[in-house]
Amino acid sequence: MRLTADTIVVGAGMVGAACAHALASAGQRVLVIDDQRGGATAAGMGHLVVMDDTPAELQLSALSVRLWQQWSQQLAEDCAWHACGTLWLAANAQEMQAAEEKRARLQAHGVACSLVDARQLQAMEPALRSGLHGALHVAHDAAVYAPNAARWLLEGPSTPAALQRRHAQVVAIEEPSVRLSDGTVLHAQAVVLATGMHATALCPELPLRAKKGQLLITDRYPGTVHHQLVELGYVTSAHHATGPSVAFNVQPRPTGQLLIGSSREFDDTSRNLNVAMLEQMLARALDYLPCLRDCNAIRSWTGVRAATPDGLPILGPHPERPGLWLAVGHEGLGVTTAPASAQVLAAQMLGHASPIDATPYLAQRFALTGALHAG
Ligand SMILES: Cc1cc2nc3c(=O)[nH]c(=O)nc-3n(C[C@H](O)[C@H](O)[C@H](O)COP(=O)(O)OP(=O)(O)OC[C@H]3O[C@@H](n4cnc5c(N)ncnc54)[C@H](O)[C@@H]3O)c2cc1C
Repeated sequence: MRLTADTIVVGAGMVGAACAHALASAGQRVLVIDDQRGGATAAGMGHLVVMDDTPAELQLSALSVRLWQQWSQQLAEDCAWHACGTLWLAANAQEMQAAEEKRARLQAHGVACSLVDARQLQAMEPALRSGLHGALHVAHDAAVYAPNAARWLLEGPSTPAALQRRHAQVVAIEEPSVRLSDGTVLHAQAVVLATGMHATALCPELPLRAKKGQLLITDRYPGTVHHQLVELGYVTSAHHATGPSVAFNVQPRPTGQLLIGSSREFDDTSRNLNVAMLEQMLARALDYLPCLRDCNAIRSWTGVRAATPDGLPILGPHPERPGLWLAVGHEGLGVTTAPASAQVLAAQMLGHASPIDATPYLAQRFALTGALHAG
């Protein structure tokens, strides 16, 4: 049997691109296959943010933000790297207490951050409404234009020559081979599944649930906002919600445009805008940033996050399908966590030491037994 590559990576979104880059950098011959239907990478916000809902999320996102800092030295201009930092906004005394607790958790993990009081916050972001109690400033968070960053990993100056690409649709994984829609079968020693929410078409037993989100971008208003602004209530109002929710989340793009989020709706994979949700999202944004009333919106769109039951990605071998490796379920944090996810996966595949404990991300934490194989 002739091997097309050592590893075939299915999916060229942010996660697949990072995995392919890591494996090829470690000396593997890698073929990346993508049919360009697109996914969350093209739809997301690109906020590179340390999140700390669980210790495992904190270790994966903190390592990733450090790795992004290293990439930022070489990223192409069109990746729109923006070292904006994050301001987690506290609207009341209770949220200020949450900011203090978050500060302690992040600093204990070596993440640079500091509390700012109401007066300092007003000086840092004069466009915010008055009356906020303060914020947590996380200095090394950043933002990036993820589709171009994924392409930079696959086609940039740092891309190893051993990384090849192919435009094709994978219709089945017959581990460790893939079958394309034209009937071609490509063989490799390993296959990495990194097709985001589309992964269940090839691996139906994966416990992934769609969380749709809507975003809106304005015309150019340079200097209006300087940091990524996120309400601390985001953690309760959006991140942990079991029903539809919105939260204030605004990113200043290097162009001067303002990217406004965010919303979450479960189990809807359509591309349709939900106008009622959009109205709620914008009402929340206007509450924090009243000046948005005078801004022109130029585009709004949706995307789908692929969520696991515990909110952590699945990184590791499929428990029942030898040769199939999983890099899926990155929900609303996959642009951030792609670099560390790739390192964790590559270390397992190559038998190297993992930079962080891989246990919390293994598929074994879910029951994938009785698996149906996609054909
Ligand atoms: C509204 C919204 C806002 C977000 N904001 C942020 C944020 O601020 N920060 C952050 O870190 N993350 C954010 N995310 C999450 C982030 O975008 C995702 O976690 C991440 O992009 C997932 O990348 P991926 O490579 O796993 O999947 P995807 O980007 O979905 O890529 C999957 C790829 O697989 C290909 N594919 C699928 N099926 C096949 C097949 N059968 N054959 C061949 N190719 C196939 C597709 O063409 C696609 O290129 C957001 C997501 C959304 C929706």
